Order: sequence, then C-alpha cells, then structure tokens
Amino acid sequence: MKPKDTPPPSMPTADDLIDTARVVALPMRTKFRGITVREALLFKGPAGWGEFAPFPEYNDAEARMWLAAGIEAAFLGAPDPLRDTVAVNATVPAVPADEVAAIIARYPGATTVKVKVAEPGQTLADDVDRVAAARELVSTVRVDANGAWTVDEAIEAIAAIGDVEYVEQPCRTVEELAQVRKSVKALIAADESIRRSTDPMRVAKAGAADIAVLKVAPLGGMRSLIKLAGRLPMDVVVSSALDTAVGMSAGVAAAAALPNLHRACGLGTGAMFTRDVAVPFRVHEGAVELRSVAPSDDVPLASPDRTAWWHDRLRRCHAELMR
Ligand SMILES: [Mg+2]
Repeated sequence: MKPKDTPPPSMPTADDLIDTARVVALPMRTKFRGITVREALLFKGPAGWGEFAPFPEYNDAEARMWLAAGIEAAFLGAPDPLRDTVAVNATVPAVPADEVAAIIARYPGATTVKVKVAEPGQTLADDVDRVAAARELVSTVRVDANGAWTVDEAIEAIAAIGDVEYVEQPCRTVEELAQVRKSVKALIAADESIRRSTDPMRVAKAGAADIAVLKVAPLGGMRSLIKLAGRLPMDVVVSSALDTAVGMSAGVAAAAALPNLHRACGLGTGAMFTRDVAVPFRVHEGAVELRSVAPSDDVPLASPDRTAWWHDRLRRCHAELMR
C-alpha cells in the first residue's frame, strides 16, 4: 500500500512539523513489546493534533505510513462520522485466570473480551482456563495468538479453547492462516498479516481470514483504512496498539466513519499508560466516544537526545513520503 492512498493535504514541510512538535515519554503500567516508556512525537496542524509513533524497530519505509497518518489527522482532520460512539472490547493480557474478572471490570459495560493466548512460557491449559474465566463474565470472547502457534498447535488449541467469536492471527504467515482456516470451524482474523504487509489484500486473495483487524497508523491514515475496509470482502475491526490519546482519537474517528461496522473494536487500550497525553478514552457502556484530543501542557517530555532522535526520524520519513 502506497501513501498516495491518503489524499494529499497541502503537504507540510518537515520544518513545519518540527515547529510544533512535542516528543512525549509516557510511563507504562506494565512492560509491553519489551518497553516500559512509550515515546511519541505529536505535532499540530490546522485541523488538530497528529501522532507519529512508529515502533523503534520499524524502518523508515514502514514508518513513513505512520507519518502520513499523523499529517492527515493534523492537516486534513477526520472524515465525517456516521456514529458518535464505537463499541470496544476489553483486553485481557496473559494473566492467571483468577485475575481476569478484575481486568474486565476496567471496561464498564463491555460485552466483548479479547483474551491473549499462546504466550511464550505458558501452556495451553493456561489459555483454556483464562478463556473460560472470561466466558463466565461476557457473552463474546475473541482470542489473539499474535502469530505464535504453528498450524498443528493452532488446530489443537482452537479445539481445546472451544467456542469463540474469532481467533486472531493464530500463526505468523498468510499461508499458515489459510491452512488453519481450512481445518477449523472457528473464524480467523488477520492482524499482523495486514499491518506489516506491503499488500494488505493478500489475506483476502489467499482466503486466509474471515475478519481483518485494521490500524490507522500503519495503513497511512483514517481514509486509507476506510478505503481498504471497502475493498476487503470481510468484516473489519479497528484497533490500536500503543497509541496515545491523540493517535487513539484517529482510530475512533476511522471506526466512527466506517459504513459497515458489526463488531467491537480494539480501541479500549488507553489504560496502558500511567498517564496519557490528555484525558484517556474511557469505556462507558461498552463504548468509547468520538472526540478530538490536544495534549495537555504538563505532559512528560522525552530527553533532549531522544527528542533529537525523533526529529531526525521524522525528517527521514518525510523525505520518504516526498519521493
Ligand atoms: Mg492482534
């Protein structure tokens, strides 16, 4: 997918972006993706704030999509909404089964829960117990293996776990997803296979998934996401990873503007940080509300070194976008 799919807002220069940039450093509640502090570069345009926060290991070619998404948010703004709230799932990490209820309680009114499975160092019995604990509390449980199973392990695990809404990214590759999908009755969702692919339609062509998990930043913006959703012959779920409230607002806006949205979205993850850049998105009656977000003045900032690193990265990705 090329960033040309994002309509060109009058393209700002890298200096324009750096002029208003704030590099924030948010302490996290628990270690995630091996990090305890989440850095993000935020900048302001005529339409509001945009976020540029590709994970550190992403190269510039991949990270430029995140910049395109931030520019869209700040310079073009959100597409017209079709709804003002978006149903979201509760997210249960790989905790012991007896901690599941307390985590779900942080998402008031949520009727869908996503449970992390296939955690390295844990057993299938741990997954079965954790899913069972969630199933006692809500009507709809989905699981996410983050690509950790082999095809055989996935087939065995899916049988053991039992009825779920869907199984997200059971294995790593598109081919493995297609094989698993042929072998089980459960619905299969693709996440990493779309997010880190140069051709997000490959999942559909390969018959590898029933559901697509879509994220604004890696797809280059809200409008790119909506356009891709229109082309994919399957249900979509809009999700976020470690977005600050600024990035989250773009995810909620994209979900709010999708003509066909039938499942709870993965946008209830604001509770990842001990403090966010603004009032975090709170789940109320199982949904989050559409709103624009500006960072508050007292947000913790990154060190001068790290700020310079992010400015450099922004300049390189901006050059990639202009090529
Ligand atoms: Mg996922």
